[in-house]
Amino acid sequence: MIQKKSDDNSKGDFPERKMFQGDWKCAECGTKITELPFEPSGDRPLHCRECWSKQREQRSGGGFAPRKMIQGDWKCADCGTKITELPFEPSGDRPIYCRECWAKNRE
Ligand SMILES: [Zn+2]
Ligand SMILES: [Zn+2]
Repeated sequence: MIQKKSDDNSKGDFPERKMFQGDWKCAECGTKITELPFEPSGDRPLHCRECWSKQREQRSGGGFAPRKMIQGDWKCADCGTKITELPFEPSGDRPIYCRECWAKNRE
């Protein structure tokens, strides 16, 4: 019995992507864009390859997202330093330490 393989369309390594030709500008850096792998909808800013990959890195957690800081008026339980910002909400039943004493206690 001869088995017929249905991979006729996999001649090359990758299927050819349809590219859209045009004359656009990167919304971020102003680089001229002449080819896009998708049809621009017009209501979204276009980005060049570099800015696009940069944005993707940021979204996937490549950089550190700014932490939400909680403002208040506390005192370090160890050295008495005034603390006005904390990266977490103090529970009240635990002593609060300043950054230095916190690092010391962790060691
Ligand atoms: Zn760009
Ligand atoms: Zn302290």
